[in-house]
Amino acid sequence: MEPLLKLDASACTSCFTCVRTCPVKAIHIKEGETIPFIVHQQCIGCGSCVTDCNSGAIAYRSSVDDAKALFNSGERTAVIVSPGISAEFHDISDYRKFVTMIRSLGATLVNEVSFAVDLIAYKYINLFNDFKGRYYITSNDPVVVAFITKYRPNLISNLTPVVSPMIAMTRIVRKIHGPDIRVVYVGPEIATKEEALQFDGGSRVDVVLTFQELRTLFIEYKIDESNLEYSDFDPPLSYKGSLYPLRNGLVQAGDIDENALTTNVLSVEGKMEMMEAINEFEKYISVIQRHFCITSGNALAGPGMTWHGNRQLKENQVINYVNKRLQNFFRIEWYNDLQRFMNLDLSREFVADDQRLPEPPTEKVREVLVQLGKNKEQYSGCQECGYASCLDLAKDIARGITIPQMCFSYTLRNKISFDESVRTLNEKLAQSRRALRDSQEKAKVVKESAIQASELTNAMLEKLRAGVVIVDNMLKIVKANSVFATILGEDALEIGEVIPGLVGADLKKLIPVGFINLFSYVMSENESIENRDIKIGEHLLNVSIFPIVKGKIAGGIIRDMRAPEVQRVEVINRIGEVIERNLGMVQKIGFLLGEGATDIERMLNSIIEFYKGEPKK
Ligand code: SF4
Ligand code: SF4
Repeated sequence: MEPLLKLDASACTSCFTCVRTCPVKAIHIKEGETIPFIVHQQCIGCGSCVTDCNSGAIAYRSSVDDAKALFNSGERTAVIVSPGISAEFHDISDYRKFVTMIRSLGATLVNEVSFAVDLIAYKYINLFNDFKGRYYITSNDPVVVAFITKYRPNLISNLTPVVSPMIAMTRIVRKIHGPDIRVVYVGPEIATKEEALQFDGGSRVDVVLTFQELRTLFIEYKIDESNLEYSDFDPPLSYKGSLYPLRNGLVQAGDIDENALTTNVLSVEGKMEMMEAINEFEKYISVIQRHFCITSGNALAGPGMTWHGNRQLKENQVINYVNKRLQNFFRIEWYNDLQRFMNLDLSREFVADDQRLPEPPTEKVREVLVQLGKNKEQYSGCQECGYASCLDLAKDIARGITIPQMCFSYTLRNKISFDESVRTLNEKLAQSRRALRDSQEKAKVVKESAIQASELTNAMLEKLRAGVVIVDNMLKIVKANSVFATILGEDALEIGEVIPGLVGADLKKLIPVGFINLFSYVMSENESIENRDIKIGEHLLNVSIFPIVKGKIAGGIIRDMRAPEVQRVEVINRIGEVIERNLGMVQKIGFLLGEGATDIERMLNSIIEFYKGEPKK
């Protein structure tokens, strides 16, 4: 058997209305997930999730095919109809047309469940009046029964040990028409579909249809009141049991005293009211000292109805229907029927199906409350989350069956802080953009300065009369001036025309091995070589090589000693050196040779002066 409810994830819009509306929190939502899920064994079949899900993502188990199969089987079938028909089928002009429409489906008998309500009401009166110290909660509504067996199993003995109107009517029909007759129940609730599964034998309900499903069958079989005649319900007929859908319908059916000053029964209607009333029964029954007649309110607003709301209109429909029915009411006949079935066994037992969850650790609950931003004074809360208090919500979050986002103020705060973070982030982003723009500007200026500096360096290098070359650790030329290319000769000049500054050229291919070794030495040892004379072909070169970046860049200054300006300066320098180095020796020789030494010095100085005085070419 399929579960009672099915949640279609593809239709779900993650609004979590169902999570909020479920009175027993049987719909869970896990942290980080967006689609809730139904824990079927915890469900009490109230149907709130079905009616409140605007996306239609939650549907109940259909029994339409089962009904069709039964009607087509040719077996004798009794359709027993909940008194809620008057509220649902306001569009059918006369209830007797409605009865004929059901017969047209293939039903052998059409009975009112209202007669069973009359009977049960009298069972209740007897129970209440034969007070033996135990107060009762009525058990006619399967939602109330499911709530107590699953969530207040300690109150099972306070449930009236009487079957619901659906089961009572099934027993009556079988009592009259034999055990083989098949039974189809039609009503506004869906909890009856689950209730029916708990009974077999004479209490077996073969198919449970909702009013919605009955309408589906009418449409499918093209059954319309316009071409049908009247027919009445099959006996036994009811009296005030047709008032059952009203809040105090059961009480009225049994003529139970409703005078506030004298009654021993309190009437309660609604899902939340049901839970509150049962809580109060549990705590204060010794003070209240009254029986509780509780219904979930589904008799007029169940998930199996096709239209919701308009409660006053529906109540009015019910009252009008009952008045109309009573126009042809034969009290003696009804009374005889009542007496006939008064001794029918309508008893039942209830079995606990405890679905209460263990209490979560106190520490964990406290942490959740802090996370939600709640202090002790705020525990009662706004109840927008669907919980009676912040504490209850915190407990379920601690149990891992719901999420903090169910708390409106928490979500709002997070949204505000999220917006704040986004705003801060945007500001930071704008700042970063501004900083990036500034550094791009600076980089541009630096780049332009570097270009200028490079151009200046190049110009300066070109102005030098010595050859200059800068190489990397692979001895590839990083920069060289044109004098350097000129010193190296034709090949280098040709390369220089194609690659200005010989950038990237391999020095090893341009100068002899001995010269290369000097560069390799400087690069590896990080030591300068100064004023080394080397000969390349006809050229006598004076070379100084020095490290620029240790192990990575080295530079060389090469002077062609044949160049006249170099010759002149070099002669001056070298003669100066000779004079310096040999002055002492000359003085000694002068001492030995007398005046001759002075003449030598004078002669050398005159050579220097001569070169200094020679005009530049
Ligand atoms: S109420 Fe419907 S749409 Fe919203 S979360 Fe529940 S199943 Fe999804
Ligand atoms: S039918 Fe009622 S109890 Fe069951 S999941 Fe839906 S809202 Fe919850």
